[in-house]
Amino acid sequence: MINKPPCDCGARCSKWNVRKKRIWRTVTAVTQDVQERGYAASVYDIIYPWISYRHVPSRMMLRRLMTDPSKNSLKYMVEIESFIGRGFSSNVFLVKGEKNFLVDTGTDPDIVKRIDCNIDRIILTHRHYDHTGALGEVGDKLNAPMYAHPLEAKALREADDMSIISGSFGKTMEPLDVMDIEDRYAGFHVIHTPGHTEGSICLYHAGEKILISGDTVFPSGGIGRTDLPTGNMDDMVDSLKKLTEYDVDSIYPGHMRVVESGGDRHIKMSLRYSTYL
Ligand SMILES: [Zn+2]
Ligand SMILES: [Zn+2]
Repeated sequence: MINKPPCDCGARCSKWNVRKKRIWRTVTAVTQDVQERGYAASVYDIIYPWISYRHVPSRMMLRRLMTDPSKNSLKYMVEIESFIGRGFSSNVFLVKGEKNFLVDTGTDPDIVKRIDCNIDRIILTHRHYDHTGALGEVGDKLNAPMYAHPLEAKALREADDMSIISGSFGKTMEPLDVMDIEDRYAGFHVIHTPGHTEGSICLYHAGEKILISGDTVFPSGGIGRTDLPTGNMDDMVDSLKKLTEYDVDSIYPGHMRVVESGGDRHIKMSLRYSTYL
């Protein structure tokens, strides 16, 4: 593919040799980027239009082209629509990317009216009623399978009202067919972060540096309660330590506002705060 020189000055042209090296460096860099991002598209989809060009774009320019949809036809890898919870209901996130999925459902089944695409699955950050109250109805209406950490999935299958804390909301839970989530889904790593509940999870996308944090981390040093059934403060501290190892830009928490940038700082504040408790 790179045998034909991009200029008319022949195969011996030293400029061409320099360009060949640049093309090779670019291919390597993009391959690495694609692997880091977990983006499924073929490398050649991105590279091919450029290799016949007179000027091969630099790595920085390629990065910009890959992430800024206004510059070419390539889309953002991940786009998240946030439905900030009202009252006792948690935040709900609609993640659009490799797959479309919903993170938590909150307590209001009318959330489905705000969803404008097919949903491949619903993922629960943990079992609590403020995140799962509308799960049965939303799952039926969207015809989407439901997934959570095995410990949370079991509690939801058994409708364990005690640990789901549905009683605090004056409700009871129906048993729901929630399945065990894998370690990775649609480019997101599933990180087990016990503390708020024993099977709480966070979802992390390395390419976009996004953390969907459930009730583990909140903005400005907040953390979820650890005094509810299956909660544990020592586990929470360990989970926060684990999260500081990730390079996080934006945080999508289960309650409160979304953090657009500098997520690492918020996680470190949460860890500092938790160790004072
Ligand atoms: Zn919550
Ligand atoms: Zn909770």
